Order: sequence, then C-alpha cells, then structure tokens
Amino acid sequence: MSQSIKVALLGNPNTGKSSVFNVMTRLKQKVGNYPGITVEKKEGVCKLDDDFKARIFDLPGCYSLNANSIDESIVIELLLNKKDSDHPDLAIVVADVENLKRNLLLFTQVKGLGIPTILAINMSDQMKKRGIKIDVESLKKELDTQVVLISARNNKGFENLKKAIVQYKSISKKEIFDISTIEPNYFNDLGKTFPKESLYRLWLLIIQETNFTKLNRKRVTDTSEFRTLSSSALKKLQQKETVRRYILINEILRKTMETDPSKATGFGAALDRILLHKVFGYVIFFGVLMLIFESIYDFSSIPMDFIDISFTQLSNWYKSNLPPGNLTDLIAEGLIPGIGGVVIFVPQIALLFLFLALLEESGYMSRVIFLMDRGLRRFGLSGKSVVPLVSGTACAIPAVMATRNIENWRERLITILVTPFTTCAARLPVYAILIALVIPDVGMYQSLTLMGLYLLGFAAALVSAFILNKMLATSSKKAFIIEMPQYKIPLLRDVLYTIWEKTRSFIVEAGKIILAISILLWILASNGPGKNFSNAHQIVSSQYKDLTQSELDIKIQSHKLENSYIGHLGRSIEPVIAPLGFDWKIGIAIISSFAAREVFVGTLATIYSVDSDKQETIKNKMANEKRPDGSPLFTLASGISLMMFYAFALQCMSTLAIVRKETNTWKWPVAQLFAMTIIAYIASLTVFQILQ
Ligand code: GDP
Ligand code: MG
Repeated sequence: MSQSIKVALLGNPNTGKSSVFNVMTRLKQKVGNYPGITVEKKEGVCKLDDDFKARIFDLPGCYSLNANSIDESIVIELLLNKKDSDHPDLAIVVADVENLKRNLLLFTQVKGLGIPTILAINMSDQMKKRGIKIDVESLKKELDTQVVLISARNNKGFENLKKAIVQYKSISKKEIFDISTIEPNYFNDLGKTFPKESLYRLWLLIIQETNFTKLNRKRVTDTSEFRTLSSSALKKLQQKETVRRYILINEILRKTMETDPSKATGFGAALDRILLHKVFGYVIFFGVLMLIFESIYDFSSIPMDFIDISFTQLSNWYKSNLPPGNLTDLIAEGLIPGIGGVVIFVPQIALLFLFLALLEESGYMSRVIFLMDRGLRRFGLSGKSVVPLVSGTACAIPAVMATRNIENWRERLITILVTPFTTCAARLPVYAILIALVIPDVGMYQSLTLMGLYLLGFAAALVSAFILNKMLATSSKKAFIIEMPQYKIPLLRDVLYTIWEKTRSFIVEAGKIILAISILLWILASNGPGKNFSNAHQIVSSQYKDLTQSELDIKIQSHKLENSYIGHLGRSIEPVIAPLGFDWKIGIAIISSFAAREVFVGTLATIYSVDSDKQETIKNKMANEKRPDGSPLFTLASGISLMMFYAFALQCMSTLAIVRKETNTWKWPVAQLFAMTIIAYIASLTVFQILQ
C-alpha cells in the first residue's frame, strides 16, 4: 500500500535547507506564499521507494522557537498546530557542520515537541578542510534520534537520509531537555492547570509575542497562572532556557565532536581582515557594485535592443501580412508590444541575479551585509537592503525581486516600498530632455542637476524608510545574528538555478499584469469617443491641404491621440495638474508613460507631431511650445516641477505588478501608488509655485 508522509525541513538561515530541498525534490516543487505575508512557502515531493512518498516543506529559516519575527512564528504555529493540514509527521533539522553548536539549539527545541526529529548535518564536505570529526553513532545516542551526515553540494548522504525518513516510526519522540528544570515551581503549577498537555508546548504558547493566525492561544494565556509572571520575568526565563540548553549541547558536543583548531583560520580569516576593513571594506564593496552595474548596463543593452527590434519587426510583419482590422491591430499594436514589454526585462533580471548568486554563493554577500547593516538599520532597513536600493538605479523590477534575501518580512516590506524612489534607467531619457531644455548649458549646471536627481532618489528612499519604520507596528526588536559562512567557489548548477527561478517567476507572475495593463493602455490610446476620433483622417486632411502623405500621417496620429480616451483623460486632469505648470498635452504624456516612464518622450513627440524626416527634433518643438497667453510652456519652473514629478511618482505599471507579486496582495502596491503620487504632486506644486 502506498504511503505519503509530511516532512518539514527546519534550520537556521544559510544551513543549506533550500539546497537539501532542491536535491530531494528537484523539478517537483511548487512555490507559494503564506497567506497575506511575504514569506515564501515551498513544497515538493520526494519519492523514497516504490510505495513511499514524502511531501517536503522548506520552512523559513529560524534560529530558535522563541519567536522574534513573523517568519519564525509561522514555523512555530505549524509545529504546534496538529490540526493544520501541513502539520509534519517528521521534522528534519538541517544543521551546518561548521556551526553545529548554534544549530543544535533549534534541534533541542524541535525535539521537545513530540514530533520525530532527524538531525541532518549538512556541508559535510567541509569537515576535512576544517579539521572537524564527528562520532555519529554516539551523537545518535546522545540526541536520542537518527543523525545523518550529508552534503547537498556533492549530493552525498542522501541515501542514508532517505532510509532514516522511511523508518521514521522507529524514531523516539522523547524530549532531551526538560523545560521544567528552568523554574520548577512555575512549571509545576502550569502542569497542574493543564495536566494532559506537554509543558514545552504550553510554554511556547505563553511566550509568543505575535498572535497566530489559526491556533488559539487565549485558553492558555488567559489563565491566572500565566499572569503571575510579568513579561520581563518571562524574558528572563527564556534567557535561562537558552543558557541551559547550551550547557547541555556543549556537554554533548564535547563527547562527540573534535575540531582541530589549527585548521580553523587561514585564508578566510585573512580575506575577512581586508573585506571587513573599516575603510577598504567599503571601498572594495562600492568598487564591486560599480563593476556589477556597469556590466548590467553594458551587457544587457545588446540583448535588450535585440528584443526591442525583434518585437517591432514582428509587429510590423503582422500588420503587413494580416488583413487590416481591429484584431490585427490588437495583436500587432497591443499584444506583441505588451509581451515585448515583459521580455525586455529578462536580460537585466538574469544578469543581476547572476551577479547576486555569485556574491551570495561565494560568501561575500554576508560580509557586505555585515558592513552595511549598522547604517541601514537606523532607517528600518537591513544590511541586505543595500542590494535592492542600488539595483534600483538600473530598474525597480529586479531590485524588488532581490529583496527575497531579506529574511525579516518587515524589513523586506519597507525595502520593497521605498526601492522605487531610486532613480531607474527609465527616468534618464525624461530627465535628459528636460535638463537640456530648461537648465542652462553653462558650467556644470546640467550634470549637477542630474546628480542631484539621483541623490534625491536615494534620500527619498531613506527618509520614507525611516517614516515607514515608525509607522508600521513593531513586534519586538530583533537581535541581528550575523552569518559568516566560509568562502566558497560558487557552484554553477545553483547559480543557474537561481537565474532560471527568478526569470521564470517574473515572466509568469508579473508578466500577466504587465501584459494586461499594456493592452488596456493601448485600447485607451487607440480608441476614442465620438466623430472627432473616428473621422480623424477627413478632419486633418481638410485642415491641411498641401501636405505630403507622411506629414499628413503624423498630423493624423497626433489628432487621434488627442481625441482618444487617453487624450480625454489628459484633458480632464488638466485642472488638477495646471498648478504644477503642466498643460493637457503633458497630462496625456504622463498618463501614457504609466506603461513605462521613457514613453513620455515618445508620446510628446506624437502629440507635437514631430516629423523626423524634416530633421525636426522633439527638443526644438518643446522649446517652442507656448501657453495660450504666448509665454513658453517649458520654463525653469515647469521643467523642474516635471522632473520632481518623475522623481517621486510611481509612474510604472511593471513596478506595481512586481510589488503585487512579491507582497501577495494588492494592498501594498496600491498604497505605494497613492503615497508616491501624493508626494510627487506636493513636491511639484511647491517647486512650481516658488520658482514661477
Ligand atoms: P538556506 O538558507 O538554509 O535555505 O540555505 P541555502 O540552501 O540557501 O544554502 C546556503 C549556502 O550554503 C549556499 O551558498 C549553498 O551553496 C551552500 N551550501 C548548501 N549545501 C552545501 C553543502 O553541502 N556544502 C557546502 N560547502 N555548501 C553548501
Ligand atoms: Mg532557503
């Protein structure tokens, strides 16, 4: 008879849980999210023998069961709630052989829950180099469970691990640490009140700071026994628990593990002295960053141009080879460019994640995080936020995806919310033309303005992170435990897997939304109410008699856009944007550049019917554009006001789509859209009213 059991993979961050998960379930995984929050939920199937399957869950990393973060309380609730459909029959604690002592803290806790718990000691490939020896047989006796040495990197030891899983019923469920020893009287009383229950389970229910989503804690926490202890007394007891557990662990490891200290230093330590240096550390890091972003710009521009041209050609091919009509237009002008607008991000995403995976896998990322953490923590961000914030200068899409590294979801959320402020590449064409137009070309004014806009982006991100940090309710200050894994040569397989995973999930998840919005924008721009739109051809040709066909086409296009739904929208927002110094034509450009900011320039070119055959430039047209009273439209005041608008507003549907995907709800992207638009409006209004 075939059997299926549920197995939870637990462990501290960076012990290789996900690598173990990948080895065991390769190609049979699904990734979801825990309801309402940004913590990833990964599940896969591993076939153990012909009629024995294991459903394996890769749980978020945690250091202990004394919950500090939402990620940790997800794990704790799952372990405590026997009614949860994912409640495991078997737990595997994945430990890193080089940090066994710290990893065993979590093990002794999980083992106390009455769930059979296997200890899988990963990274065993490093043992020889580090001079580590482990007596597995006596460790099994001391820990009262199955212990397996594995290496996810070299695919070693998994046969033994699978054997241990198949025989999970023979594993002892007894705890090896008696919680009541930390405060006998208290636990005695607790045991009398709830005579049938495990003391450690009750204890876990009592000490949680966040409420669970499904499991009810009230029946325990509302009893008088619980109230006799203040929360600071509870904290003290938790510390006592940790100390006692470490005493036990030290004793066990003294009997079962040997380390040759002469092997523990060497190359890694020397490298750390340079990479973590108070001055050189930062210099090297910013050097590395510059190198990465230079390469992203350089290498991605070729495939991006190629994608751009291919989709344009494909669209032209469709237009000339299919019968003209609405459907052809929809495919050629809506659908194909829409798909192109998704695929165009692939080179940047793939390249960024190539570099990130290399940094992460080599062990350098942990050093960077250590360097940056103190500074960024003041703003409610994490050391790990540095990568998204800097990646944002290329594009917010890969940047928001890069926040996945941040384990604490609150820090991750803040990073996601502020990243779109950093000046992305799509703002450059907008800035470039406005600067050329309104900033005098003397001295360094123009380049200083551009630099100012970049600094403004970073400042806006940091300031809003600071505010968000104050606004979002804090559960408790999380002690930051810094991971310092050994330096390693990155494994090609893992790097490629990361790139594939990120790219695929972007195309599948965010792609849908981007495609839908771009088709909607296309429909709004190529349809319009009333005769003014449908008779554009006649109206324009009767107005301009002596134009060539191509000049006429340009005028017709411009007329159509003015009278399309987007044109009407642009006109209808004119009263709102007039105080910022914008007219309805700019309104149209603002609305249509929601597809992508750089569209702004192209839209204005269409509205002003720029004829590139006659060597007209969009810049000259813009410079000559007049208000009804004859004064120029683009002045220092309105130009800077427009730059402010593009600096702060969330003018990018792709960003909304990716934030929706990464936070798993529309709540955050919508809040972000509103907040950033309001900030942009106020900034533009202030600037224009002061300067004009
Ligand atoms: P998680 O945070 O627990 O999910 O850990 P990951 O699976 O992301 O792995 C963390 C790091 O450890 C990665 O750089 C892996 O390449 C590396 N790693 C995982 N398993 C092994 C192993 O068996 N040996 C070595 N040397 N490195 C490993
Ligand atoms: Mg992981």
